Amino acid sequence: MILSIIMLGDSTVGKSSLLKRYTEDAFLENINQTVGVDFYVHFLEVEPGVRIKLQFWDTAGQERFRSVTRSYYRNSVGGLLVFDVTNRASFDHVKDWHDEVCERVVPHRVMFTLLGHKSDCDADDHSERVISREEAEKLASRMGMPYVEASAKTGNNVQEAFDVLAKTTIIKIFFFPLKETDSSYTY
Ligand code: GDP
Repeated sequence: MILSIIMLGDSTVGKSSLLKRYTEDAFLENINQTVGVDFYVHFLEVEPGVRIKLQFWDTAGQERFRSVTRSYYRNSVGGLLVFDVTNRASFDHVKDWHDEVCERVVPHRVMFTLLGHKSDCDADDHSERVISREEAEKLASRMGMPYVEASAKTGNNVQEAFDVLAKTTIIKIFFFPLKETDSSYTY
């Protein structure tokens, strides 16, 4: 089974860094900026002997690339909505990214997880964090999705965050399989 997952969120929230940490267990302070769409693959063993291939579309957050990324929404069954806990604008835009995808795919087809990123920034004195866990949890609950926090820099909770995303997506596929008429599907 192949699950296609799209990474969503403003530029610089750390989407590419999260994927690099998850797929290669590495972190680059000056990671190349994504132009258009990048592609990553990771195999997840859901139980002994059962492997699922996750393929990730990493989009550029800039408005001017949206026309490129739109064509990838159609094949996605999972979506990671990423914001930066030190950047309120990126949090405010989560709803826009969500709407952007929902307007273009069959309703409820993409299962989302909300991820508050750069959680390392409140390790010492909380001075850099502007979005509290409580505020983010409220938004996630209003939007009907799980909320997780992670840091690609330290690696903290990254594996767990992608596990939540994959499991939410897999559960949806088993309980709400698509109709055959939905021709753009990949699993
Ligand atoms: P993208 O545009 O959303 O793909 O973001 P990038 O992955 O290119 O990261 C943008 C910037 O955030 C880079 O300077 C990274 O070094 C930094 N960054 C990424 N992940 C983290 C993190 O977990 N913690 C902190 N403090 N910075 C991070």
